[in-house]
Amino acid sequence: MDFALSEDLLEMRDQLRLLVRETVAPRAADIDRRGRVPEDVLAAFREAGLAGKGYPVEYGGSGLGLLGLCLAVEEITKYCCSSGVVLLLTRLPGAPILYGGTAAQKEKYLRGITSGRLRAAFGNTEPQAGSDSAGIRLLAGREGDHYVLNGAKSFVWGAAAADFFVISARTDPESRHGGISMFVVDRDTPGISIDRFEQPMGVRGISLGEVVFSNCRVGAGSLLGRENGGFPLLMKSLNSVRPVVAALGLGLAQGALAYALDYTRERQAFGQPVARFQGTRWKAATLATEIQAARWLVYHAATLVDQGLAGKEHAPYLAMAKLFATELAVKASSEALQMLGGCGYTRAHPLERFYRDARQLTIVEGTSEIQREIIGRAVVGGAIDYL
Ligand SMILES: Cc1cc2nc3c(=O)[nH]c(=O)nc-3n(C[C@H](O)[C@H](O)[C@H](O)COP(=O)(O)OP(=O)(O)OC[C@H]3O[C@@H](n4cnc5c(N)ncnc54)[C@H](O)[C@@H]3O)c2cc1C
Repeated sequence: MDFALSEDLLEMRDQLRLLVRETVAPRAADIDRRGRVPEDVLAAFREAGLAGKGYPVEYGGSGLGLLGLCLAVEEITKYCCSSGVVLLLTRLPGAPILYGGTAAQKEKYLRGITSGRLRAAFGNTEPQAGSDSAGIRLLAGREGDHYVLNGAKSFVWGAAAADFFVISARTDPESRHGGISMFVVDRDTPGISIDRFEQPMGVRGISLGEVVFSNCRVGAGSLLGRENGGFPLLMKSLNSVRPVVAALGLGLAQGALAYALDYTRERQAFGQPVARFQGTRWKAATLATEIQAARWLVYHAATLVDQGLAGKEHAPYLAMAKLFATELAVKASSEALQMLGGCGYTRAHPLERFYRDARQLTIVEGTSEIQREIIGRAVVGGAIDYL
């Protein structure tokens, strides 16, 4: 078992650290206040080839695999979760195309993403169904060699900027899991509107909208994979992206702890730096240990996906990484805020933003409860063997 990162990955991480410190870190508070990631940050990401981090070379990607993408997300999210989500959105909508798309769909959409020419968004959640993915109602009615889409997708991250959407839809109303298909739909297709934007607690740099499809006609070339074969494609895609969401949590936890440590080394109380109190040291020790545990869970999960192991059998390990790293992000940002005392609760310091940004991580891409269900079923059912 080799725990060392390759030379290529280490070199990429070191270069990225410089870019993040120069380009992202000074803008993070502004991104939160203004509610968007500015064009020059996106351009810097494009130039550094970050849009193709999670993709194979044959589609214009870096070839550094999901592990490469996770390392990049980790570095960026140490300073700015919204900017980390920009990278998540290069992979979340692309996964169903990668696993189920035709050569032509991959050429158009994946190359569009990796070159930074196209931005994408992913729509599975609906107003009446989130965790229960098989409960979606958006209808894709077949008319000859076309489908007519009617319904809405809610909580679509990046909806405002998207050039295309990857969505799940119901193609057979009589069947639950067996009646779902996945589609890729260009934003400029007639019948698509974004009717409402949410006002989220955190990650304010990324838009969160409800995308409505009204008699939206798409050709059969929009279907991803097999008609009514969308549910397994959706599950594999979601499984494969869990390490990336986990990497958001891992980076955020580190950024929060690092900031609090700097502060407590300077801040004096009772005649000494706050960092010298045992209460501070033990808090830091616990978080550092949990961050190290999260790091190995995330890197291992990303490596599984890179080995093609994102199916049902490996889903519990991908879920463990997501569960642990995202819950750690909430805990670490809360503990770090506490380490600053009153200042932690103000906008003069970034920890209130880290806390707001962390809070969504245990909800998106399958809540913590759903991750525990995936893991718990495998443990209780004996799929994970302990003796
Ligand atoms: C910031 C943000 C960004 C998002 N981005 C996207 C996106 O880009 N695309 C997209 O499709 N969706 C997106 N979502 C939606 C997100 O994936 C859903 O909110 C999430 O899956 C939960 O669904 P729900 O909100 O409908 O909650 P519900 O499914 O209604 O769940 C409500 C509560 O019940 C619990 N629960 C449900 N079922 C079970 C069960 N079987 N066992 C135990 N507890 C259960 C849940 O854990 C939760 O606590 C985003 C959400 C947020 C907040």
